[in-house]
Order: sequence, then C-alpha cells, then structure tokens
Amino acid sequence: MTGFTADDFAARQARAAEAGAGAGLAGVLVTPGPDLLYLAGYTPPAATERLTMLVVSADRDPALVVPALERPDAERAPAVDRVSLVDWTDGADPYETAARLLAPSGRYAISDSAWAMHVLGLQRALPGSSYVSMSDGLPMLRAVKDAAELRRMAAAGEAADAAFYDVVKVRFARRREVEVAADLTDLLLRHGHSQVDFAIVGSGPNGANPHHEAGDRVMEEGDTVVLDFGGLVDGYGSDTTRTVHVGEPTEEEREVHELVLRAQEAGFEAVRPGIACQEIDRAARRVIDADGCGEYFIHRTGHGIGLTTHEPPYMVEGETHPLEPGMCFSIEPGIYLPGLFGVRIEDIVTVTENGGERLNTTPRDLHVVA
Ligand code: ZN
Ligand code: ZN
Ligand code: ZN
Repeated sequence: MTGFTADDFAARQARAAEAGAGAGLAGVLVTPGPDLLYLAGYTPPAATERLTMLVVSADRDPALVVPALERPDAERAPAVDRVSLVDWTDGADPYETAARLLAPSGRYAISDSAWAMHVLGLQRALPGSSYVSMSDGLPMLRAVKDAAELRRMAAAGEAADAAFYDVVKVRFARRREVEVAADLTDLLLRHGHSQVDFAIVGSGPNGANPHHEAGDRVMEEGDTVVLDFGGLVDGYGSDTTRTVHVGEPTEEEREVHELVLRAQEAGFEAVRPGIACQEIDRAARRVIDADGCGEYFIHRTGHGIGLTTHEPPYMVEGETHPLEPGMCFSIEPGIYLPGLFGVRIEDIVTVTENGGERLNTTPRDLHVVA
C-alpha cells in the first residue's frame, strides 16, 4: 500500500485516541494486522511471537513497542517520524516495557488480531488493567474511509468488475468448479489484485450452500452458478457476487433471480447517512419475506470492507449504528434452495452525502454463460 504520509497516520491516531477517550477507554492498543496498517502503515517483517504494539491514547504521544532486532524495519514505516519507538531485547519482558506506557488500572481496546499470549502477558504485567476487543470497544475505527481510501476502494471494485467481464467468456459446461475458480483467480490477479481472498464457484446444489467455495462438481447445461470473488488491490478490498446460468434458465430460476435482484435494489435504495445499518438488512429482507421466501435468505445482508474483506459495520438486525458518508459495505441478499440452486447478488456500496454509490457496476441480470 502506497501513498499515505506521516500526517495521514498522525490524523488517524489522533482520531483513534479521541474515539477511545469518548468510549471511556484509557487508550487503544494496536498489534500487527489491519489496525496497525491503518494507524501506522506498518507490518513487521515476519509474523512472530515477539510483541509489536502501537499505544495510542489521549494523554500521551503515540509509541510503538518493537523488538529491538526489528527496529530498523519499523524506522522505515511512514508513520514513524511522529511516533516514538520503544524497543525491547530478547530476554527482557516485553510486557513490562509496554506496561510503562499504560495506565495501571486502564481499560484498553486491543486489536482483534492480537495474540492471546500478548493480552495475557499485559494482564500479568498490569493486573489492574482490563481489555476489550477493538470490534467491541471501537468497532467503527476503520469504517469511515477518507478520499484517498475511497479512490482505492473504487479501483478495487473496477478490478473485480473487469475480472467478471472476462470470466463470463470462459467455458463453464463440462468443467469442474475449481477450474473456473482458477480462471477467476488468474483474472483477478491480472486485473490488479495483489491477493485473492476468495473465488467461489457454487454450481447447482452447491450454490445453495453460502459457504461452498469450489469443488470437483462438473458443471452442465442447466446449472445456476454463484460467482463470489474478491481480494485486495493496493491494500483495499473487493467483493462482488453475480449469479450466472449455463445455457438458458428456466422460468423458476428467472423468478428467484429477479426476487434477489429486487431485494438487492431495495437495500441499495435505503442507503443514506443517518439511517441504522439494520435498515439496510430490513429493506432487502422485506422484499424476500413479502414473496414468502424469507426462510431461504439465511444470512445477514452485508458487511463492511476496507483493509480487510470482512469488517464492521455489519448490515444485520440489531446493528443500530448510523450510516455515515465514507462507509463502505456489501449488500448481498441471497436465496438458497437446498438441493436445487442458490442465487446471490452482491455489490460494494459507499455512503455519500445524500445516498449511496455502487462500486460494482457489472450488469446484475442472470447472465447466460456457455
Ligand atoms: Zn437451470
Ligand atoms: Zn461479501
Ligand atoms: Zn462476496
């Protein structure tokens, strides 16, 4: 990921410190993974057991605890001009080092990806302290994207769309799902993805299982096929689903697809700043429920996306957090008919000042493939 400056990271850290204080937390503890990339632009050279942790709080300057042998790597991170580095050497207790930066009885949010041994080590060094996961304490930390992030999200959407336009030209009939999944993976990489997180090809009855990835089933004329694919482009995620049909679909297949399409449209039309996330789920579900197919829509309507392909905010009943301009998430209703086929349609959408904008723009009709 390129192009973010020390100022960008300092602004994000200040916002995290403020949000943490607002949530009654003594600070935010950030370990390697998407949170550390977001707040410091840093990923350690290797994912090892040695503690690396950024400490951000309202009442002190940010500090990055690093193993001494990785200090030269950390010094090259863009954020580091504005962060003090605190190193520890093998044989020393890294938790004692970190504890000197923390309030003895503070309550901290810590990255979801933090290793349990690190949380337990901190607890041992500071018995009065307590910890809450980032997704519980500050779930919206990375949810609102700035202009530079939105440009990357748009580029990721375009790259996934380009892969879709190409994959519908490959042959499906008499080939295994894994072969089309391999084509799709190649196309995502060719169109700018640095990493492919999933390339789901769910044909016929396999499409009725939302967790099916791709298997040895040989596709035939008459199959409905769910294609759900995404990964990272310049550090930011893509995730889109289109359902295609091998040869001409039946009337029933068309009707089910049409229903999912109307649900997806209803979810999208509901997007605007200020409404609760659960309203997106309700808007899509209402359409499917009204048709009597509610029992076949068996998952939430969407998830946030950014530095990872699944993150808050979630478009699910019970999530009352309001949408804000700059949030990016999926709208992906589906209908799964056990033993028969599944249909899912998914776009990434970003919240604008007065509505929403799709980052995936490939046709959403039931495309016929050969
Ligand atoms: Zn069919
Ligand atoms: Zn998704
Ligand atoms: Zn998806």
